[in-house]
Amino acid sequence: MAIRLYDTLTRSIKPLVPRDPDLPYRMYCCGPTVYAPAHIGNFRTFLIQDILRRALETDGLSVRHARNITDVEDKTIRESQIEGIALSEFTARWKKKFHDDCAALNILPPHDEPSAVAHIPLQIAMIEKLIARRHAYTTPDGSVYFDISSYPAYGKLSHLDISQLRTQTAAPAATPTDVDEYERENLADFALWKSRKSADGPNYWQSPWGEGRPGWHIECTAMSTHYLGETFDLHGGGEDLCFPHHENEIAQAECSCSQKGFAAHWFHSRHLMVDGKKMSKSLNNFHTLDTLLQHGAPAMAIRYALICGHYRSRLNFTLKSLEDAQTALARLERATARLLSLCGLTETDFAPPNVSEKNTAWGIFQGAWDALTDDLNVPAALGKIYAALPVSTAPDRSLNQARSDLSGLGKILYTLGITLFSAKNTDTPPAQIPPDIAALAEQRWHAKQTRDFAAADLLRRQLSSLGWKIVDNKENYALEKL
Ligand SMILES: [Zn+2]
Repeated sequence: MAIRLYDTLTRSIKPLVPRDPDLPYRMYCCGPTVYAPAHIGNFRTFLIQDILRRALETDGLSVRHARNITDVEDKTIRESQIEGIALSEFTARWKKKFHDDCAALNILPPHDEPSAVAHIPLQIAMIEKLIARRHAYTTPDGSVYFDISSYPAYGKLSHLDISQLRTQTAAPAATPTDVDEYERENLADFALWKSRKSADGPNYWQSPWGEGRPGWHIECTAMSTHYLGETFDLHGGGEDLCFPHHENEIAQAECSCSQKGFAAHWFHSRHLMVDGKKMSKSLNNFHTLDTLLQHGAPAMAIRYALICGHYRSRLNFTLKSLEDAQTALARLERATARLLSLCGLTETDFAPPNVSEKNTAWGIFQGAWDALTDDLNVPAALGKIYAALPVSTAPDRSLNQARSDLSGLGKILYTLGITLFSAKNTDTPPAQIPPDIAALAEQRWHAKQTRDFAAADLLRRQLSSLGWKIVDNKENYALEKL
């Protein structure tokens, strides 16, 4: 039976089957804006998309997964200008950081990872089509806007009643907006092409409408249809992308492409809360992968803590949930080690399963798989795994049963992206450094850089008496607990 998943567009749970049986299952996920490290709310979304892809592959489907890199928009331009470096250099750094974080969290890389800057002509071509079909208009300053009144279905994804919204906001004709992100109350014609402004610095391109840069929404539509086809199977992102980004994408796609339909299925995951509140830097509850590693959690425990709630419910993340995740992983490892030994195997034999061929033997882990196929119910799947584990190691289990159990367990853990007995689980995380120690280390580094070696030596000894050793390299230093 096909995997079933909630679809935002039809507000119903639908089976996931390729719309073209001769093609792989084609899924497009909105990727990161590369201007800072991604936060754990972003990773919650990337992780559930990763589980979806793994589940489709485990179910025997071939999958084509595309995810973009947003490297030209308001924030990347602003931040690169503040640092005074080229946009490409700035975004390359954050793209690499994103890749490193994904690898640490065991997120599979997409098959296609197009960036907006590398696809400017493609975006211009789509805008030209929209103008030719009278869905977009130019303004005297050389910008281009999408005319939302030209597309009566506008609002269908987020179930907006546009006529009512306009009455409420007393805006009979929407005022065009050139900001990339806005609220429903600010419903407006949105920018497809933004004319060059002084704040853009050297970041502008030639177009039929003059120098400028693409708006944010057009890149995903141009690149998804280019890589996956005018109509494809699934489009995903965090719930915050539903409006306006995905709404705008549907409008752009259906008005510029010859085929109607764009993505058959819309997959949105709910927000993550931290300590019951929205994550924000001002509330001091803003976490990235690095901040959590510094709290002493292995990357696999972070993955576990971020996937263990249902994707359609808000997940309340706390530091305590990382401890619980570590306990849960240790329990899984102990039970798996027992099962391996029953089969006459060791931890090093516990390899990922071959999922390239459809294999329906789940043994006693059938219930866990069934939970995953039912709207990606990860918490239910985990519950079923814990319920099955004691059975798998019961004294009356035969060798054949134990082998079949082990194969089912390997497959379900692979689908959840959980690795056991690996460095990701057991790596000694960076020690948590108290702020006063960090401050002394900074002072000492500064003293060394300014060649005040006497002061540097004094601070080094002070840190040593407090139980911390400094290890220098050319560009930086590290602190180690003595
Ligand atoms: Zn997007």
